[in-house]
Amino acid sequence: MLKGIAASSGVVVGKIYKLEHPSFEIKRVNAEPETQLKKFDEALEKTRDDILRIQKAAVGRLSDEELAIFDAHLMVANDPEFLDQVKGIINSEKVNAEFAVDQVASTFIGMFEAMDDAYFKERAADIKDVTYRVKCHILGVVIPDLSLINEECIIVAKDLTPSDTAQLNKEYAKGFATEIGGRTSHSAIMARSLEIPAVVGCSGIMDACKHGDVIAMDAISGMIIVNPTADEIDDYQMKASVFMKAKEGLKVMKDVPSITLDNHKVELVGNIGTPEDAKGVLDNGGEGVGLYRTEFLYMNATELPSEDAQFEAYKAVLEVMKGKPVVVRTLDIGGDKKLPYLPIPEEMNPFLGYRAIRLCLDRTDIFRTQIRALLRASAFGHLCIMFPMIATINEFKEAKAIVMDEKNNLLNEGVKVSDDFEVGMMVEIPAAAVLADQFAKIADFFSIGTNDLIQYSMAADRMSEPVSYLYQPLNPSLLRLIKMTIDGAHKEGKWCGMCGEMAGDELAVPILLGLGLDEFSMSATSILGARKMVRELKKADMTLLANKALNMNTAEEVEELVKKALK
Ligand code: PEP
Ligand code: MG
Repeated sequence: MLKGIAASSGVVVGKIYKLEHPSFEIKRVNAEPETQLKKFDEALEKTRDDILRIQKAAVGRLSDEELAIFDAHLMVANDPEFLDQVKGIINSEKVNAEFAVDQVASTFIGMFEAMDDAYFKERAADIKDVTYRVKCHILGVVIPDLSLINEECIIVAKDLTPSDTAQLNKEYAKGFATEIGGRTSHSAIMARSLEIPAVVGCSGIMDACKHGDVIAMDAISGMIIVNPTADEIDDYQMKASVFMKAKEGLKVMKDVPSITLDNHKVELVGNIGTPEDAKGVLDNGGEGVGLYRTEFLYMNATELPSEDAQFEAYKAVLEVMKGKPVVVRTLDIGGDKKLPYLPIPEEMNPFLGYRAIRLCLDRTDIFRTQIRALLRASAFGHLCIMFPMIATINEFKEAKAIVMDEKNNLLNEGVKVSDDFEVGMMVEIPAAAVLADQFAKIADFFSIGTNDLIQYSMAADRMSEPVSYLYQPLNPSLLRLIKMTIDGAHKEGKWCGMCGEMAGDELAVPILLGLGLDEFSMSATSILGARKMVRELKKADMTLLANKALNMNTAEEVEELVKKALK
């Protein structure tokens, strides 16, 4: 029995297809630049052809969001910085092409991996995927093609690259398990969209099995059994049928209101990172977008995105959402999120440093461009502009003044701007939570960013493994900060949402409902489950539950309390 991270829910039993990517050692060899440059160009051409072929074959099988990953891959294969550096090494050091590719790839991968941000780690995975393909083509190594599988199986691999996953045909590939990867890795995201069970980060799985073995996989708990007994197979098949029934049952939740048994209405909305994600929110019954992390637009570019490029992205989301609220967060860069083209001074504690709104109020040129793009897009739907990392009233006032100033500028230029966009803020710094009643006089709404609020209130870096035990969403101290924020908003007739991971946490939802949270923003695939839960609860009961929780001592006590109430 092995345990990994359940990345895409489901239970399945089947035969193993063990995927082993050819590995090779790359040595530095002196070589004639002319032939090496030719080899490199040919390999690049083949790589681009592969990417386009895989993307084309996956149309209809993958969502637009996943297909866009291959555009990112093409960008890597066409990236002038990458090409120039490889050619530079081939020319100046007179070495073999695969060595030059390997050198440049390692530098980029190392840089992105060091950023400790899930998004950047995925960029590293893209570069790895593309440059592996380039090296294989230079060396004439054949790359396994999963699209050729023609019998039902479960793929076991060290890791699945996005191109591997895109080749999976749901008819035959009934699930996969990998040694490495996390819940936010591309392969995990794709598995959720293909709706096939997946367990990732399952250490030891490759050594534990061989091609053709049987595997029983519970991708709800992350448990895997290689070569299970007949009883274990029965047990997993039973779990599979229970899971399928529950999943079918959730479909009826798509178009019903998010309303408790005693008629209290909340909004269940989705978090997105790209315009393409918005459709997934609608497909999963989302009532709006509660957080559009715009930094991805900046991170996907090689220079600051223009006002027009940003306008197109924001407009696309507003149009897809057809009048439903869309909360767009202004640039939240700094801390662990860096832009290669925007140098930020090194600091001892970057999470407590020059980042997000602090940077934007300093670099108003960057901020004003984004605000103008947002205001232009406001004419196409229900836009809510949200500032990240607000600590003081003056910061909010200053940021809002820029919005109003740009609104006037646009109107003077004859550009249409909506009259009823909202301007709100994230509450992710304890100082803002404590002063929420004052902030609510000037902000149209709040969205609580618990990912940061927890790290700042516990003084526990969200990236630090040794102190990860302090990430305690149910700690009464955090619940009190949340209550202060919600009460502060309501006192002034404003709404309060939450877009940190906690909003989709099954054990937190009942308490948040009891505390009066108006809007819950989570990953799209969590929405239907949350709606089912909301519809089975009574707001009045949850208020009592929340009041009890606020007066407890520990997160463990609160967890017990909620579990008992849900039974
Ligand atoms: C948060 O801090 O809770 C949040 C939603 O923002 P991010 O995770 O992007 O910092
Ligand atoms: Mg945050």
